[in-house]
Amino acid sequence: MNEWELDFLRRIVQLDTNSTEQKNYVECSEIIKSYCEEAGLSVEIFDPNHDGRHQPNVVATLDVGADKTVLLCTHYDVVPAGDVDAWTYPPFDVTVKEDRVYGRGVTDDKGNVVAAVSAAKELIKRGTSKVNLKILISPNEEIGGIWGIDYLVNGPPAIRGDFAVVVDSGPNYISIGASGILAGTITVHGTQGHAGYPFAFNNAIHLSIPLLNSLMEFIDLRRKVTSELPAPPGSPYQNLWGRFSITMFHSGTKTNIIPGTADISFDCRLIPEEDPDTIAGDLEKFVAEITSDVGIETELNYITKAKGWSSDPENPLTKIFVSAVHEVVSPDLPVAADLGGNDGHYFTRVGIPTACYGTIADDTNFHGIDEFMRFSDYEKVKNTLIRFAEMCE
Ligand SMILES: [Zn+2]
Repeated sequence: MNEWELDFLRRIVQLDTNSTEQKNYVECSEIIKSYCEEAGLSVEIFDPNHDGRHQPNVVATLDVGADKTVLLCTHYDVVPAGDVDAWTYPPFDVTVKEDRVYGRGVTDDKGNVVAAVSAAKELIKRGTSKVNLKILISPNEEIGGIWGIDYLVNGPPAIRGDFAVVVDSGPNYISIGASGILAGTITVHGTQGHAGYPFAFNNAIHLSIPLLNSLMEFIDLRRKVTSELPAPPGSPYQNLWGRFSITMFHSGTKTNIIPGTADISFDCRLIPEEDPDTIAGDLEKFVAEITSDVGIETELNYITKAKGWSSDPENPLTKIFVSAVHEVVSPDLPVAADLGGNDGHYFTRVGIPTACYGTIADDTNFHGIDEFMRFSDYEKVKNTLIRFAEMCE
């Protein structure tokens, strides 16, 4: 990182822009705007000003008169610092130690904001970009993107491009997809009563046991579902697969009371090819069968239903992006789909092929204490973005 880049990073990390409180957004967007302008980009601010709250989205454009436009998607909000006293370094400043820079948001995603702007600055200096660039720098990513990237793509700004890079991801593989999610709660109904009279009541915990047992079979059923897309490095299977976990079990209030209800919560991860409603139907059928077999009464409610996404690995721009990473970083870097979710769906849903690449390595404590970014990863991301823009035709 040169001095300009580190100053840019420092100034935006010094502002606590956590999206829980949504503070310092205006100040942060103004600093970003001034650095983008210094880099030679033209800047527009799209502020939905919803409910009298400022949520400025910065869009910085490099127009080289090319046919194609590439979107670089980043965000300037962060998660709260948490227990500030637990940090070794001050969260709202940058501390440089050898190959690392510490601070809240340095890697998620403020370092990536700087990498994208700095890549554009270098391309302007060289005059070598073969594509127009639009850098999207939004708030509210950490709370789902509402009035942030969602507003830019689906709201009045209706930003479009021929390809999107979500610069909010890891440096050790190129992601071209992410898992969907189906999560909710199965409530088992029994009857509540005095524990001295167990014969008189239906214990909801006891009734849950056969259901929990059978749900273990659903885990096996889900595991047999396999995506066309590879799983990330370190996964137990080569391709992305369906997952089901029982994540919470709540029942009972006192040792001497027979519980009347039990809540079994689950998290089901879908491969990008799956439709959440179809899998919800499978699960409902599965639960209904057990329910009638063992003669219990249940109710199923969902809290999250979201489809995954994927981009065609054979898309010409996807292929060029992969070549750029391979040239800059390593020819062995794998292409995979994420086990979790990410923001790529905003673009693929409106037909824009998307890849994700960024500085957020697994061990960088993002969202945790002592978040850091490696300068070597920063250079990988910046140089990849530069090479990609130079290689596009
Ligand atoms: Zn992020």
